[in-house]
Order: sequence, then C-alpha cells, then structure tokens
Amino acid sequence: MRRGEPRFQGKRMGRRRRRVVHVVKKTLPKVFTCPNCGMVSVRLQPKEDTTIISCGSCGTSQEIPNAGKEPIDIYNEFVDRFNAGQTGGSSTEANRIEA
Ligand SMILES: [Zn+2]
Repeated sequence: MRRGEPRFQGKRMGRRRRRVVHVVKKTLPKVFTCPNCGMVSVRLQPKEDTTIISCGSCGTSQEIPNAGKEPIDIYNEFVDRFNAGQTGGSSTEANRIEA
C-alpha cells in the first residue's frame, strides 16, 4: 500500500499577510565601562582558555578563565575582582563621607 503525501495545491488567496521579518540582532557590547577610571574602554581579548580583559584607558587588566562564559560574565567577574581587590574583600560600599 502506497500512500502519497497529500499535496496542498490549492493556495488560498485572499489573505494578505505582511511578513514582518524582525531580526533582532544581539548586539553584544564589545566595550565595557572600566570600574577603575570609568571610561568605556574595557575590551576583551579572547584566548584559548582565558580572556584578557583590559582597559585601554588606565591599563587595568585581568585574565579571566572563560569556562563557557559570556563576555558580560567575564566583565562582571572583572568588576567583581576589581572591587574585591579594591575594598579588601569586603563588599561594603566605600562611600566614606568624611565631614
Ligand atoms: Zn580604566
């Protein structure tokens, strides 16, 4: 027994469909804000196992292991490490108001 696939030959006219092809491009930011100097000049340089993330403005740089991390994750770790090193490990805000 052979069954041919049913073919849809009769196209139904009458419906106008506007195809709105909305291509949402993921525009990943390639440059991030530096936690040290505040300039948007932090770039990622992907290597084999690590990513060198460095600020082109002040020279702050770190090597983050990129274990399947997204660039934003690497940047977050960069900031985290920077903050950790800057505040001595504690996450207390360094907003000292000395009157
Ligand atoms: Zn910087």
